[in-house]
Amino acid sequence: RLHSLRDENGKGIDTEMKHALVTGGAGFLGSHLGDLLLKNGWRVTAMDNLITGDTANIAHNAGNPDFRFVQYDVTNYLFLPEKVDLVLHFASPASPIDYLQLPIQTLKVGSLGTHKALGLAKAHGAAFLLASTSEVYGDPLIHPQTEDYWGNVNPVGPRGVYDEAKRFAEAMTMAYHRYHGLDTKIVRIFNTYGPRMRLNDGRVVPAFISQALCGEPMTVFGDGSQTRSFCYVSDLVEGIYRLSQSDEHDPVNIGNPREMTVLQFAELIRDITGSKSEIVFRELPVDDPKVRQPDISRARRILGWGPRVPVEEGLKATIEYFRPRV
Ligand code: UDP
Repeated sequence: RLHSLRDENGKGIDTEMKHALVTGGAGFLGSHLGDLLLKNGWRVTAMDNLITGDTANIAHNAGNPDFRFVQYDVTNYLFLPEKVDLVLHFASPASPIDYLQLPIQTLKVGSLGTHKALGLAKAHGAAFLLASTSEVYGDPLIHPQTEDYWGNVNPVGPRGVYDEAKRFAEAMTMAYHRYHGLDTKIVRIFNTYGPRMRLNDGRVVPAFISQALCGEPMTVFGDGSQTRSFCYVSDLVEGIYRLSQSDEHDPVNIGNPREMTVLQFAELIRDITGSKSEIVFRELPVDDPKVRQPDISRARRILGWGPRVPVEEGLKATIEYFRPRV
């Protein structure tokens, strides 16, 4: 399709629109990424098997001729007739309780699904971007985590299904880059939050916000001294888009380095919501990482990217999304 653009003199120019395939396109991150691509003038095909994704996340794009949704499992053979310029592989269960309940699907989408998505990118001569994760660092022994750290992962623990699938996916992506010369990128995504997270996905942000809004006890796991660093979704997808347009083939951390303990985070959410919920302590899940904070020097240097949304502001927007839904 021809897309009408205007140059700086207001003169119309026609360019052929670029086409992106987003696997996991009805998920939390995939849907926000699709929105950013549309805003930046792309045509978007969102593919999702809806195991953890939800069409409610993309309903606002219904009727947009530049957007298409395909319900499909990316672990099966993939075929798209029209030219694809960029494949963004975001399909995967991503919350600890999801991948504990869906261990085989999690392993399959990270391994077979990554292979199929890479194969499609190769067939189209498209660029490829893998959604990887800070979980490749496991329970890290280096703090904050730099991209050259190889990680400390328990392959046979309950989180191994996700961590090892993503590590395999990174290895597969680099093999396609080195062996086939595919233009690949790898983003290592740290904890991210914002509207469209699933209320019951078990992750700390929806859990604490819904508990605070309902006046229920806020369940801090362990003693709450473990740390996380939370990035607002608009910052995250901007960093990912910039990476997709770059020539960087090595992994790049994208996240917000502002680190806090889980207990501080519970107190912050309680304060912002004005809730009177009590804080209760529950058993720490197996292999729960004790610390996590991205070193984002590489993203700053290569992409000129850094987070802009302060956590208090991002949390307010997220709370307003959850308020009518709890
Ligand atoms: N957590 C918690 N209470 C909850 C859910 C999670 O204290 O109701 C903790 C969890 O143990 C972990 C942190 O919050 O230390 C972040 O958990 P999440 O599931 O969001 O993702 P993770 O960073 O562990 O992948």
